Amino acid sequence: MTQSMKSRAASLVHLRGRTLEPGDPVPLPLVSAATFHTPGDSTGVHQYGRFSNPTWDAVEEMLTHLEDARSLAFPSGMAAIAAVMFALLKTGDRILLPADGYHTTRILADRFLTKLGISIDTRPTATFLDGGFEGYQLVFVESPSNPNLDICDIAAVAAAAHAAGAIVVVDNTTMTPYGQRPLELGADIVVAADTKAPNGHSDALFGHVASRDEEIMAAVHDWRTMSGSIPSPFDAWLVHRGLETLEVRFDRMCSSAETIARRLKQHPAVQMVRYPGLEDDPSHNLARAQMERFGFLVSLVLATADKAEDFINGCPLMQAATSFGSVHTSAERRNKRGDAVAPGFVRIAVGCEPVEKLWAAIEASLDRVGG
Ligand SMILES: *Cc1c(COP(=O)(O)O)cnc(C)c1O
Repeated sequence: MTQSMKSRAASLVHLRGRTLEPGDPVPLPLVSAATFHTPGDSTGVHQYGRFSNPTWDAVEEMLTHLEDARSLAFPSGMAAIAAVMFALLKTGDRILLPADGYHTTRILADRFLTKLGISIDTRPTATFLDGGFEGYQLVFVESPSNPNLDICDIAAVAAAAHAAGAIVVVDNTTMTPYGQRPLELGADIVVAADTKAPNGHSDALFGHVASRDEEIMAAVHDWRTMSGSIPSPFDAWLVHRGLETLEVRFDRMCSSAETIARRLKQHPAVQMVRYPGLEDDPSHNLARAQMERFGFLVSLVLATADKAEDFINGCPLMQAATSFGSVHTSAERRNKRGDAVAPGFVRIAVGCEPVEKLWAAIEASLDRVGG
């Protein structure tokens, strides 16, 4: 992590403390309110729960601090992605999406944007630059892509897309602001599912949009207020708590993933491993150049779907579950979610367990299912 991100991580947990009056609670109070006291002229104060909420303010202050860009909270990652698309696009626009990224983004665009006369193209993340960006109003990047962990050169995409007049959006969910800095690499907007590592405990859905462009953020803010796509104060409170420990969890998860990916590669039952931190991974050189860490997702292929299921379900330190970024290690056979991958393809989301215990459990499960 850069010195400037270390400073940000250190001051993150003191943001609230700086504003306290004697007698105030040190931890963040949860304010669950649809209405606020608004006698007379109520400009500048909280009025109604769809417009603003003090618990959102606190989590947005943290996200803004981490992103170094104004950030707005949403009730899920998809709500954040939808807000960007519906607030910024219009009939006649053409957009480019990753062919291999989070598939709901493509389904949303396909079902709802095409009906509004917006055309959609897709391209694999690994060759995202090929073909240029002429004619696109918005270019949407997900790097590393989920679940294959392919990478594209975000700075090069941003430069070429800007030259063609497009806005560049990066879904930074897999890396978090600690692992990759898309706005520093030239992107206009970051979207992320804070459902994953930022919340970190699999008990809330949440998302955010971050940008240094005030016009973009004004449009996204209007969309949130008018569409009612607002987070619950309780979920905001949970994510606020999660963000306080994100740095230490993310550090542990990425370090453990590096160790585990190396050992998986040596195991005879494993046919293929994808992890950007492995020197011979196709993503490695770009990952070194543009990411702060190599992430906590590791993908591997076992011989069959049955072996993959057996490996996951028979490992006592691995939760069979979709999603990722929680304190517990989880894994999923991605073929059953509709990803275009081999039947035995497993995505492991490495959690916070002590790494040697975790590896011992993974190794024992692999030994048991065999090659
Ligand atoms: C999970 C995820 C989303 C969607 O987030 P939700 O909170 O489930 O709506 C979007 N993009 C990526 C890369 C994700 O992993």
